Amino acid sequence: MFDFKLTQPQQQAQPGLDEKQEDLVYDLVIVGGGPAGLTAAIYAGRARLETLVLAGSIPGGQPANTDIVENYPGFPEGIDGPELAQRFRSQAERFDTRVVLDDVTEADFSKMPFTLRTYGATYRARTVIVATGANPRRMGVPGEDEFYGRGVSACATCDGFFYGDKKVVVIGGGDSAVAEGIFLTRFASEVVIVHRRNELRATKIYQEQAFANPKIRFIWDTVVEEILGGQTVTGVRVRNIKTGDVSVIETDGVFVYIGMEPKTEVFAGQLELDEWGYIVSNHRQHTNIPGVFVAGDVQDPLYRQIVVAAGTGAIAAMEAEKFLGEYPQSKVEKVVALGGTCD
Ligand code: NAP
Repeated sequence: MFDFKLTQPQQQAQPGLDEKQEDLVYDLVIVGGGPAGLTAAIYAGRARLETLVLAGSIPGGQPANTDIVENYPGFPEGIDGPELAQRFRSQAERFDTRVVLDDVTEADFSKMPFTLRTYGATYRARTVIVATGANPRRMGVPGEDEFYGRGVSACATCDGFFYGDKKVVVIGGGDSAVAEGIFLTRFASEVVIVHRRNELRATKIYQEQAFANPKIRFIWDTVVEEILGGQTVTGVRVRNIKTGDVSVIETDGVFVYIGMEPKTEVFAGQLELDEWGYIVSNHRQHTNIPGVFVAGDVQDPLYRQIVVAAGTGAIAAMEAEKFLGEYPQSKVEKVVALGGTCD
């Protein structure tokens, strides 16, 4: 049985509280509008839970930034990433789930109902699913931040179009670097993939396609030291980690694909994180706080696939439903009124 402390709910409106939301306590608030969050929303909607998705200001998750998704079942010819993201959302809304495009700025899981603040409003929920995903990691070299959006990018789908007949550099050796490198050959005259080892981490099928592509060249055992340029990027200064040789690769653009960083800042100090910053959960998507569940890439350092994220979203929603059944509103509110412990 769970053992958690409950205290009096807030009676007074807080600054920025949306009047319409003040008296509403959702059964479930899902934080995140990617495949995990929206799959959870589909399941919760069909379970007739009063559900809200706080989908962030840019919804859709990573599929929205992916050209073609070829490994999501049911689409034998592949499907456009943004279209798949839109389909997830339409399916969630079909079951009366409310989707709000706003970012959560603050979360309070210390008492029930839980509180989530966004730029526009404050929401309360009996259960929460955190499905905030992960952000592209940055190299942390001089010039990277300065040129972000002006020649440095982490989204070939968004920015590849601007590099028609130009030369681009891709950093990384995983699936993203190699798959997006292949995609960039549609536009660029040459794609140079710079990798810090002499062996790729990417799936074999991507490796085969990249090695066979005449527009792609690899530079091995090499790290970036600086992004160079004036108004826009003109090159990258790189160092061979075996020989120590430093050289400059001339380029018009740099695409950085060196992995992801889970988005957990607003839950800091409340949800347990592992040593890499991912939210810790058990195999039923429970976090350390009863009633708060987690799904998708924010808890998955290993697989990070759309189908896996969707699967964990479904589990999290079913667990939230089960939790609400075990602790129905009347019991929770009675305990809240007494300021006591529910066990
Ligand atoms: P990843 O698999 O973690 O690969 C990151 C790459 O960046 C690795 O090659 C790593 O080098 C390199 N790297 C890490 N930190 C670096 C640094 N500071 N400087 C230079 N290089 C650095 O990340 P990902 O490619 O984004 O893929 C993430 C997940 O999504 C994976 O599970 C992947 O399979 C999945 N994915 C799937 C598809 C698909 O179509 N199915 C497409 C994209 C991504 P090392 O190899 O030396 O560690």
